[in-house]
Amino acid sequence: MHRYKRLLAMTHPITRSKCIVALLLMLAVGGATAKETTLGFDGVTELVSNPKIEGVTFSGATVLACGGALNCGQFPPASGSNILYDTSGGSGVITVTFDKTVKAVTKVSAKITGNRAITMAAFDVDGNLLKSMTTGGPNYIGAGTGISPNTLLSIALDPGSKKISKVTFRDSGNTFTIDDFSFTYDPATYIIDAGHGKLLDENNVRRYQRPATPTYNLREDNLTLLFAGIIRDKLKKDGLSYLETRTGENAPWNERCGKYDAKNDQIYYPQPDYKEGTNGCGSDLRNRMRIFDKLETKEKNGAVFISLHTNGGSGRLIKGRTQAYWCQKDSDKLSIKVRNAIQGVVPPLFTGNGLIEKNCDLIVLAATEEFNAPGTLAEILYHLDASLGNTDDEKILNDAGKRQQIGEAIAKALVEFSDEKNK
Ligand SMILES: [Zn+2]
Repeated sequence: MHRYKRLLAMTHPITRSKCIVALLLMLAVGGATAKETTLGFDGVTELVSNPKIEGVTFSGATVLACGGALNCGQFPPASGSNILYDTSGGSGVITVTFDKTVKAVTKVSAKITGNRAITMAAFDVDGNLLKSMTTGGPNYIGAGTGISPNTLLSIALDPGSKKISKVTFRDSGNTFTIDDFSFTYDPATYIIDAGHGKLLDENNVRRYQRPATPTYNLREDNLTLLFAGIIRDKLKKDGLSYLETRTGENAPWNERCGKYDAKNDQIYYPQPDYKEGTNGCGSDLRNRMRIFDKLETKEKNGAVFISLHTNGGSGRLIKGRTQAYWCQKDSDKLSIKVRNAIQGVVPPLFTGNGLIEKNCDLIVLAATEEFNAPGTLAEILYHLDASLGNTDDEKILNDAGKRQQIGEAIAKALVEFSDEKNK
């Protein structure tokens, strides 16, 4: 059993430590919200196989300790006295998987000592290789290669990349140790607000908030829901966390709040959309922020909010096809990213870049006790601009392929913003 003998101390008896070392893991905070966790394996009893620690599962692995079964003369721990060893008689592969409490891993590292070159590889949720790194050769003490034991292998993804879902360590069937396995993940929860949705009129009948467009009979209420669904699906596919203010055609507010305007087939309520907001139909806007109640405090710190709209007003020549509004925190950066993402799919027409504006009257963006996070409200093209007789934006909004591209671009922009913030 060459594999095993390499690691077992030939001159030491194997003694199982019964005591649990107090320091289970070292916790460090890297950046504003990114969470970096380092596992030194020192809280785990020796010879435990396939430990699960802090949402991370190791398979093909056994814990060994200095002064116990580990030959730490050749394979010294980097910290404490415990390491992970590729289980004797196994395939020589240690696989690390992250559970759903560890979301969106962007960085992994480990200190490796091996009899051969050891490769650390990171994979996305679909099993595609993202990046890999190798120690370059044997590096146990006495290997004579000049490579230090506990060589640090580190993989960091580019902002916006697909996230790490699994990590493998392999050595072509020899033996190695891992210490100080470290990972950084994006704890962001992306809050997706599909603007508008049906509200109850004076007769308790559900009505759209926005009239149908002239050519394609589109409703802003539906377009925003379509964009929200595309963004949600993209985030979900990439293993990220999200919440939605609505998933069906109804607005969150569930009380009679306005009169039916038969001419435009929409609900009419006197106060402008984003003013007041605490009575009548406007309550719907403040009510949307209640979604933050669902988050733990630490999740609120990592939240990124987007409210999705299409523009039914005029002013396309002045404001550009796409605008993004913001109110608090780093939201100007977020707004620029989102606008640029949309313009990457649908270039601006007349006026160059679309408007970026601080506007705290937009009630879904203004900080409240429960909502204190970066947020943006995007007006994605004009479904209507009577002053221009606009039909080109309306045509694009009617195009499912274009909507898909726009939604995916917005999702990518949100994640890039969070990744950069957490760097
Ligand atoms: Zn709107």
